[in-house]
Amino acid sequence: MAQRLAVADGGNKKTSRVRVAVRLRPYMDKQDEKGEGPCVRGLDSQNLEIINWRNATETVKYHFDVFHGEQTTQQQVFLSSVKPILPHILTGQNASVFAYGPTGAGKTHTMLGSSEKPGVIPRAVQEVFNLVKAKDEDEGWDYNIDMSYMEIYNEKVLDLLSPSAQDLPIREDKDKNIFIPGLTRTTISSFSDFDKHFVPASLNRTTASTKLNQRSSRSHAILLIKVVRTERSLPHRQQTGKLYLVDLAGSEDNRRTGNRGIRLKESGAINLSLFTLSKVVDSLNSGTAIRVPYRDSKLTRLLQDSLGGSAHSVMITNIAPEYKYYFDTFSALNFAAKSKLIVNKPFTRETVAVPVLPVKRTREDQEAGGSGN
Ligand code: ADP
Ligand code: MG
Repeated sequence: MAQRLAVADGGNKKTSRVRVAVRLRPYMDKQDEKGEGPCVRGLDSQNLEIINWRNATETVKYHFDVFHGEQTTQQQVFLSSVKPILPHILTGQNASVFAYGPTGAGKTHTMLGSSEKPGVIPRAVQEVFNLVKAKDEDEGWDYNIDMSYMEIYNEKVLDLLSPSAQDLPIREDKDKNIFIPGLTRTTISSFSDFDKHFVPASLNRTTASTKLNQRSSRSHAILLIKVVRTERSLPHRQQTGKLYLVDLAGSEDNRRTGNRGIRLKESGAINLSLFTLSKVVDSLNSGTAIRVPYRDSKLTRLLQDSLGGSAHSVMITNIAPEYKYYFDTFSALNFAAKSKLIVNKPFTRETVAVPVLPVKRTREDQEAGGSGN
């Protein structure tokens, strides 16, 4: 009993926060007929502000671990938010990277990117191979890397490497490792090997999504890279490190369904996983967690051993600057932020200059001896 308590305490102390980065994508709404411009802007490498819809002369200022402005390159996002956690998965520790935010805000751009601007996934996989290659032979470990790729849609876990309609179960072994019996695990020995399996599987998902009505914005795409290292000499110890790279469902669904129990049920619990993820991150980061609700959804159950605890986790919250995203942005920021502050100053000087002008003219009129009435 005493021993169990000691272990539990040690575990609590080690429970790590989820680092929160926010990435603002460039302004893209060319056909913005009102010409409103952006409603959110960066201040420095940790702070941003968004106009306060209740009072346009105020802004709401938010603080994060990292803020990536619209000029930030794919390389910079990778270097600052992802690369530092990768060495841990070669020593049997777990890690997870999530892209959170409303549909259209840049999650897939951040995680996948394009061939000209590769995102977190290709860069991280390449880096894992680089790290393994750089390992000294004399350290005496052999490394094996494999990949799995799955999707959670409607609280069903689906294998993207060998697609079938089957919902895979999530299990926990006696050491509290989470695993999915029956999930395809493909050994990969190089980046091109990875690409060969990953690209057609991603296409599977995209084709399915157009058929199934915006499925990609409602499902979580989860890439798992597993590094198993085995000691060459006796006792041949083995360590397994897992890296989860997750392109989450659009957070706009989260609110629509999350607020109303009936709708949540009607929509087949599409975003129960996203809603629960918010609660899990909240309870990990508030530091007062008595119970982290991992078991309440498939996504958080799957990630239980790779989110919080001794794992290294980063959430990249993607936001868009256009006004039409205002409420989605606002709630994504409220979820991501540790603190916010209402600042009493105009967002753009132009908007304030307009009402000020008539006052000034009136005063000039008075000085000039005009009646002003
Ligand atoms: P999401 O996956 O969150 O729905 P996407 O990644 O598809 O959003 O991004 C929406 C659009 O914005 C895409 O055309 C994408 O190429 C573009 N985009 C997103 N982020 C950036 C960025 N940082 N720089 C340039 N274009 C971006
Ligand atoms: Mg997307």
